[in-house]
Amino acid sequence: MDVHNVELTISAVDPAQYPAEGYPEIALSGRSNVGKSSLINTLINRKNYARTSSQPGKTQTLNFYNIEDELYFVDVPGYGYAKVSKKDREKWGKMIEKYFETRSELRGVISLVDARHEPTELDCQMIEFLHYYNLPILVVGTKIDKIARGKWNKSESIIRKKLKLYPEDEVVLFSAVTKTGKDQVWEWIEKHTN
Ligand code: GDP
Repeated sequence: MDVHNVELTISAVDPAQYPAEGYPEIALSGRSNVGKSSLINTLINRKNYARTSSQPGKTQTLNFYNIEDELYFVDVPGYGYAKVSKKDREKWGKMIEKYFETRSELRGVISLVDARHEPTELDCQMIEFLHYYNLPILVVGTKIDKIARGKWNKSESIIRKKLKLYPEDEVVLFSAVTKTGKDQVWEWIEKHTN
C-alpha cells in the first residue's frame, strides 16, 4: 500500500477506548529496542511518526494508527524491560491479553525479533501466546543490514526453530536502513486485511 494518510487515533488503555469503525487491525509486538517504531515508520513512509513506544516508567498504552481509513496498526508496548516493576509487567500482560483475546477486528500479529541474536525467552513466550489464540503470525527479523547476506538463511532457520513456528507462520527479514523486506511485510498485511 502506498500510504499518505496516517493518524495516531488513540493511545488506549481500556477496551472502551478502542476505535469503533471496525477497520481490520494488525498488531505489532516485540521487546523494547527491537526496531518496532522503525518498522512502522518504514511501512508508512515517515521518518519519525511512530516514536519509540515504551520507556521504563511511561504509561503503557496500545497505540492505534489509522492507515488511510482502511486499517489500523496497533502498536503494542515493548516487553522485556528489566527495570519495569512486577506490578507494571502484570498490568501490561492483562492489557494485551484482553486485547488479543477479545478484539474481533484483529487479523494478525507482526512479532518482531532482532535477527542478529537468538530469540529470547520472552520472544518465545509471545509466540506461544499467539499460537494459543490462533492468530496469524508474521515474524519480522529486524536489523538484517547488520548481517552478511550469506547468513540470512541461517538466521531465518534459527528464528523458526527457536520460536517453534508452525509451517503457516511466515518470516520476513527486514531492515529499516535498506528497506529490505518492506514489500513482503506489506503483502502479508494486505493478504490478512482484505
Ligand atoms: P523500538 O523500541 O522497538 O520502537 O525500536 P526503534 O525503532 O526505536 O529502534 C531501536 C534502535 O535500533 C534505534 O537506535 C534504531 O536506529 C535501531 N534500528 C531500528 N531498526 C534498524 C535496522 O533495520 N537496522 C539498523 N542497523 N538499526 C536499526
